[in-house]
Amino acid sequence: MREVYLDYQSAKPVDPRVIEEMMPYFHDLFGNPSSLHKVGDVATDALEQSRKRIAKFINADDDEILFTSGATESSNMALIGYALKNKKKGNHIVISEVEHISIHNIAKYLVSLGFEVSTVPVDQFGRVRVEKLERRLTDKTILISVGYASNEIGTVQPIAEIGKLAKERNIAFHTDAVAAEGLIDLDVERDNIDLMSLSSNDIYGPKGVGVLYMKKGYRINPLIIGGGQERGLRSGTENMPGIVGMSAAADIMAKEMPSEVERFRGYRDKAITHILEDVPDSHLNGHPTERLASNAHFRFDGIEGEGMLLSLKDLGVSVSTGSACTSKTLEPSHTLIATGLVHEEAHGSLQLSFGRFNIDSDVDRAIETIPQIVARLRGLSPIYVARRR
Ligand code: PMP
Repeated sequence: MREVYLDYQSAKPVDPRVIEEMMPYFHDLFGNPSSLHKVGDVATDALEQSRKRIAKFINADDDEILFTSGATESSNMALIGYALKNKKKGNHIVISEVEHISIHNIAKYLVSLGFEVSTVPVDQFGRVRVEKLERRLTDKTILISVGYASNEIGTVQPIAEIGKLAKERNIAFHTDAVAAEGLIDLDVERDNIDLMSLSSNDIYGPKGVGVLYMKKGYRINPLIIGGGQERGLRSGTENMPGIVGMSAAADIMAKEMPSEVERFRGYRDKAITHILEDVPDSHLNGHPTERLASNAHFRFDGIEGEGMLLSLKDLGVSVSTGSACTSKTLEPSHTLIATGLVHEEAHGSLQLSFGRFNIDSDVDRAIETIPQIVARLRGLSPIYVARRR
């Protein structure tokens, strides 16, 4: 029977077309862009071509693209690098409660360096209210960081409104756009984004590559110091196969995103409609409409997400519980807790995320198996049985 993979939010296979574009850069075109000879020139051309392709993907200029090892590094550069460079202007940073764990941990580090971080709460759907964010701003605020969309519950933030507010107040605006990549048309001009973190794997490129978009005129302190690559802001020999792979992935994504998003929306809505109908005491986590086309996130009263995940695993269906990136921890998801759920409710959650290589029957398998598993686990749950009496 086909293995059904419904956890695209935590990892995606690299598109074979991307692998094909990467291959020459391992052996035949192995040059280092820092070399001045012909072999080096070929690498420099590939590097600058890749920069152009990524710039086009997000409506930026080539010289606003910095290649990194992934979104975690990009966000470290954006938050720590920006805070250190601009500390004379102020020491206050604002983030939201539903940020990816990398942003929360960077914020903690900034606090240890003497910066002040305010965390804006979200509504029951995990959405930031712009007026609440505005109330947190002070004349010491230098940076706002709000993720474009949640990689867990799929809620999309009012990014353009936050960008507009940041611009009016002359505050830099960073967004971790990893969860939205390939699902929402990213446009840094339209949304007034000054700094943006991207990850290659989220658009079916290789892991271990990413981009920091930094608007012209903005400055950061480098965190990795060395040979001066990437304008001295991120030293180290460029990962050429990875960089070429990420840019190839962006090109493919730009062409295929509209039809792909339509397909995912069909999967998502089918899964949501059937599961909420077929499973009593089931709920949708996240926003009913302002959500990623690929994300369906459920909560089932009286059972644990881990139990469901393992039962589905036995039936050849891979899903996720809690946060896609850190689901091996026993802590409930901070995002679900931020939406007002108690620990027990948060633990009863299950995330399905659809992607490029899913086929229609994958959704049907999820719709068939999940209600059966929930019913079986509830039958074994004394708490649920007692509550139903
Ligand atoms: N932000 C979000 C929203 C993520 O889902 C992830 C994990 N894919 C990251 C940041 C970290 O990205 P990377 O693994 O490329 O550093």
